[in-house]
Amino acid sequence: MKKAKHRLSSFLGMPIDSATVFKPVYFLFINADGKDAGNAIFIDFNLIYKMNEEERVNFLAHEFFHNLREKYENHGFNYTCDMNYTLDMIQNEGVADMIDKAGGYEKYYSETMELPELAEIMVALYGQAPEDLGKLQNVIVKYSKDEITEKEMVDTIIELVKINGHPIGFFMANQITKAGYKNEMIETFYNPYKFYSLYNKAAKEQGGFRLSDEFMDYLKEITKGYYH
Ligand SMILES: [Zn+2]
Repeated sequence: MKKAKHRLSSFLGMPIDSATVFKPVYFLFINADGKDAGNAIFIDFNLIYKMNEEERVNFLAHEFFHNLREKYENHGFNYTCDMNYTLDMIQNEGVADMIDKAGGYEKYYSETMELPELAEIMVALYGQAPEDLGKLQNVIVKYSKDEITEKEMVDTIIELVKINGHPIGFFMANQITKAGYKNEMIETFYNPYKFYSLYNKAAKEQGGFRLSDEFMDYLKEITKGYYH
């Protein structure tokens, strides 16, 4: 536990003040994933058992990141509607995956988790992340112009944003990191507008899929007032 907190603190480059109360961690036999549900973090015992110490520390640090981020994120924005929640969740999981999956999905799911089938799925989703991100922006822009209803928009984004937004978020976080903006990404880890802006800055410099000005303007509009 101590090591996981230390790992999170060094990833974020900031001390975690002693007043931060981390949720208790329960080790259970459930599916092969950690779950931050309500007042505690549940982790499958089988999963922890397969991991070496470093992997275990990283895994816990990922879960603690969510725990800590809750104190910084803007609940007013996130819980206004499903769209806001999804946009924020992509950042939340994308940045968190940099803590325990920095070596990539292939390595993590096939070596650490020993789940080659899941590795295949995650790698495929990661590969199509730029395309999915493009579709996500298109549906949100359409909604912003009243071309589709909120329900139609939400139904589409639920289809598009798979596995809690991990693959899209992790793809974005990796592009940001490759472009040299990891520090900026970490400094603004609770602000979705900054995450999408940094992604676009990275894509502009490095090539690859870029979000449109139309989408970015809309995102700026809906987030302003919540973040400074
Ligand atoms: Zn997570």
